Amino acid sequence: MLYTESCNDADMALSIYRRHRKKCPHAADRISKKCRCLWWATGTLEGRPYRKSLKTANYDRAEQLKNHIEAGKAPQPKSKSLTFDEASSRFIRKLQAELRAADTVRKYRLLFSELSRFGALITDFTIDTLSDFRDTWQESPATRNKKLDRMKAFFRYAHDAGWITGQNPARLLKYATVREPMVKPFSPQEQALLLSKPQTRSLRCFVQVLYYSGLRISDACMLKPEHFDGNRIRRVNQKNNEVVFIPIPPSLKQEFRPAPPEWRLLFPARPIRKTLHAKRRMAHDPQ
Ligand SMILES: [Zn+2]
Repeated sequence: MLYTESCNDADMALSIYRRHRKKCPHAADRISKKCRCLWWATGTLEGRPYRKSLKTANYDRAEQLKNHIEAGKAPQPKSKSLTFDEASSRFIRKLQAELRAADTVRKYRLLFSELSRFGALITDFTIDTLSDFRDTWQESPATRNKKLDRMKAFFRYAHDAGWITGQNPARLLKYATVREPMVKPFSPQEQALLLSKPQTRSLRCFVQVLYYSGLRISDACMLKPEHFDGNRIRRVNQKNNEVVFIPIPPSLKQEFRPAPPEWRLLFPARPIRKTLHAKRRMAHDPQ
């Protein structure tokens, strides 16, 4: 018989059975193929009685695990390690429960999509894996440090949550040295040149908004009529939801008045940016 051939030692005989849930309609059949109750292994292992859950409802998997156990292989029926996908989506849910800014969550998602190429299980991520991953980064040192911050936060959480035993793999990674060049502001002459050039109304508004508000170009491009409150620009800080009011001269506010209401953005971003960059070059190199 095949069975006695493969398992000639009577001390090593296991068989599998389903341990049914209380209300299972197939409870009478211990090897039912019709329900999803868990398989258990029972019998004798190395001369001792053995009975343990195989933690699977799949027959083939249960047979395979039983054979592994008989062969003395890994006694744990199922890897306890979380998949990286599961770990990262749990972390995202944690951030969302903390009402973190949408942009923060987006940056973590981006990080996880890049990281997912480096391992399937959370335990696949060792210090070496993370170093290899970091070697692929092309961003500026400051941006890389922010990315490393997020990576450290995730693995610190994974470690504290017990998903990773032993060392936190991100702990030893050090930050890059950042030498930010000093920001060189426009000189008064350059400012005067920028403000004095003959311009279309929208471009004149745009340059003056930058001049008076100190907003970034990218933020100024996103201004909408509803962001104006009297002679002030109302800004909501995305990070802490604080409202900031930036005063602008009434003359500048007057310039906005003829804006047709169907304008979604006060400034269509692309052409303005193009012109502005051209002007910036002009201001630096006025020939
Ligand atoms: Zn059942």
